[in-house]
Amino acid sequence: MSLFGFGGKCEICGCTEDNPCYNPKHGLCGWADDKRTICTHCADKEIAEDPETEHCVNDSIEAQVIHLSREGMTIEQISDELGLGETYVAKIVKRDSEGGEQ
Ligand SMILES: [Zn+2]
Ligand SMILES: [Zn+2]
Repeated sequence: MSLFGFGGKCEICGCTEDNPCYNPKHGLCGWADDKRTICTHCADKEIAEDPETEHCVNDSIEAQVIHLSREGMTIEQISDELGLGETYVAKIVKRDSEGGEQ
């Protein structure tokens, strides 16, 4: 449970410093409390309810990579498509094919 003991993890959306939320007007989220249990994009009602707020951006990038690789696209094609580094894409695809590690 305390994998993110140093960096914290938002209890609402599950974001971390490596996997933050993004809003075009407010940028990336930060911590709204000292204990790092809630992020600014969940604590601020206005941002939380903004449809443009995207929580845990890395998750959605990973989800897209996994989706495309399952569609049969190669790592090279996916990295072109999403503008990501091939090493990064390869890592996500490998983890997905191995059934995921916690
Ligand atoms: Zn949050
Ligand atoms: Zn957040």
